[in-house]
Amino acid sequence: MRITKGVYLVGSGQIRLSNPFDCHVYLVDCGGDLLLIDAGVGLEPELIIANIREEGFDERKVTHLLLTHCHADHAGGCAEIKKRTGCDVVCTEAEGELLEKGTDEEMGLDVAKRSSIYPESYRFTHCKPDRIVDDGEAVRVGEYDIRVIVVPGHSWEPACYLLEMDGYKVLFSSDVVFYGGTIGIGNWPGSSLEEYRRNMRKLSNLSIDALLPGHYLWTLRDGQKSIDKAVENLKLAWVPPAWRHAHQHH
Ligand SMILES: [Zn+2]
Repeated sequence: MRITKGVYLVGSGQIRLSNPFDCHVYLVDCGGDLLLIDAGVGLEPELIIANIREEGFDERKVTHLLLTHCHADHAGGCAEIKKRTGCDVVCTEAEGELLEKGTDEEMGLDVAKRSSIYPESYRFTHCKPDRIVDDGEAVRVGEYDIRVIVVPGHSWEPACYLLEMDGYKVLFSSDVVFYGGTIGIGNWPGSSLEEYRRNMRKLSNLSIDALLPGHYLWTLRDGQKSIDKAVENLKLAWVPPAWRHAHQHH
């Protein structure tokens, strides 16, 4: 599903574009080379591959999978997507360690299961990252340099990815910040309001046009407004409004 020029949604549990447990999975055409943002939960990776083909692309042209963080709905499909595309999996150091060998407790998977976010039978498939990136680094894919912005608070070391196409700025914000300014604060290991307070301002003053989060709605213009709202909320006395997983599959 085309979102804007060169950017496609190829996985999403919410709109049943793919497995119900998948986060939004985005595909970017970088001028021949393709990149994916996140991998989905890994239960039906063939649906994501089929969606890539549906848009007229060859999945073997996917050279990079930019993983935002190691929660199962984003990272559980890394191993399978890597196998089917031959891409490099790119992520931050802390999230990469979890991806390679994190326990269910460290990844917040046990608390998520207790909270009925995933079925008890779900097993996370680990995967070794190919490249570790740090805050401020750029990842070159095709004709674009994608900037890594690390904003801890939702998980240990989550990365937002900033893509600029002819002056049009797209932020893949994952579960760090959502449309409308809600944040991904929760009661699982790695989530911290203090880290949010410390780091959220890294997303200020970026003049983001499109805000493409890991769940829920996105926007093609004035994405910065949602970010600024979250930054302002974090200055107030109360726990800021958080987006809640509302999985409804029966
Ligand atoms: Zn998450």
